[in-house]
Amino acid sequence: MLIVQKYGGTSVANVERIKAVAGRVSAAAKEGHKVVVVVSAMSGETDKLIGLAQQISPNPGEREMDLLLSSGERVTSALTAMAVEALGHRAMAFTGRQMGIITDTVHTKARIERITGERARKALQDGYVIVVAGFQGITEDDDVTTLGRGGSDLSAVAIASALEADLCEIYTDVDGVYTTDPNIVPEARKLNKISYEEMLELASLGAKVLQTRSVEFAMKYEVPVVVRSSFNNNPGTLVTREDKDMEKVVVSGVAYDKNQSKITVMAVPDTPGIAARLFKPIADANIVVDMIVQNVSSGGNATDISFTVPKTDSKKALTLTEKIARELEAKGVDLREDIAKISVVGVGMRTHSGVAAQMFDTLAGHGINIMMIGTSEIKVSCVIGLKYTELAVRVLHEAFGLSG
Ligand code: ADP
Ligand code: ASP
Ligand code: MG
Repeated sequence: MLIVQKYGGTSVANVERIKAVAGRVSAAAKEGHKVVVVVSAMSGETDKLIGLAQQISPNPGEREMDLLLSSGERVTSALTAMAVEALGHRAMAFTGRQMGIITDTVHTKARIERITGERARKALQDGYVIVVAGFQGITEDDDVTTLGRGGSDLSAVAIASALEADLCEIYTDVDGVYTTDPNIVPEARKLNKISYEEMLELASLGAKVLQTRSVEFAMKYEVPVVVRSSFNNNPGTLVTREDKDMEKVVVSGVAYDKNQSKITVMAVPDTPGIAARLFKPIADANIVVDMIVQNVSSGGNATDISFTVPKTDSKKALTLTEKIARELEAKGVDLREDIAKISVVGVGMRTHSGVAAQMFDTLAGHGINIMMIGTSEIKVSCVIGLKYTELAVRVLHEAFGLSG
């Protein structure tokens, strides 16, 4: 088999952990598998690099930012290759560029356009273990790009797809995908399998165990993904196509996202075209707007529009919004960072009703105020005060009977 194994930051956090990873890689190679390893930077390293840049400038250039951020994964890929060699295998480390990971030019959240991978294919043929630096690619113009936070997951899935691997294993610090973050709710239950669709919702709603875009990619190209722990040999969670059994479960997970901010434009004239004028410049700045709520003006001819954006983009979004608000002669703009989004997810919601009502009821029962509500076919999300996050996750997990 050809196996892609991705190891996250905690799995390569120090030399001891890197040696342990090499041991796993070696075991797979000894079983006769061809192995491609994808590594993250050591845990905390990417945040540290961001911190350094911010000490230099509040708005560092994105091209240089990417060059800086990509360095963390270079370190671990080289060290991991050395560790695999030390166990008697032939190993070769590749940067994103050497792997031929071609992306668009959107720095700090680039999209993979294609993977050439010629050298890697040749090296695999020649019996090498390949170790690729995750999270990074290269533009057609030879600039280094990164793939967004958690982007090594995407590197792994995309490489698995390009090389037509039989399996993509994501090794992390928990045993698999749980009904909610096991670090918040110890009673959370590990799922043996989960559909791409549910995983995509959970990831995009904050469950950082897999990066959203990696799940999107896996779903599109049907890459079989298994999430497992690098700290033990427990079986993990298979992310796969939906089957009949999965629909019987109404709610399969609870997710939370503390990385959103809420922007409110107050008293905008209630006329056609306002939303378009407001959101176009934000979209043009590559800022993803998530929830939008527009309060119907009662009698008057003004309306409030609230929306959420990722915290990392909130300053940029605020500046853009303030400019448009002035043009529209709105009353003002308000930014709130002390919010969180809580969501319940399940494909069974397509055929069962009452989930939203039960969610609102549960939150109300614990005195948690809801600021915004959003729904799709298979999820219900509520924006609440940040300080209620853990409480909300726990009581919803309990209310929907998800504990093991
Ligand atoms: P890595 O560094 O290996 O990429 P991450 O920190 O990105 O690891 O992701 C693993 C973390 O995801 C876990 O430690 C856990 O706290 C969190 N997590 C959030 N929701 C879930 C969930 N539903 N199941 C498992 N882990 C989850
Ligand atoms: N090191 C990057 C990050 O912290 C990418 C990753 O770990 O997947 O976001
Ligand atoms: Mg991760």
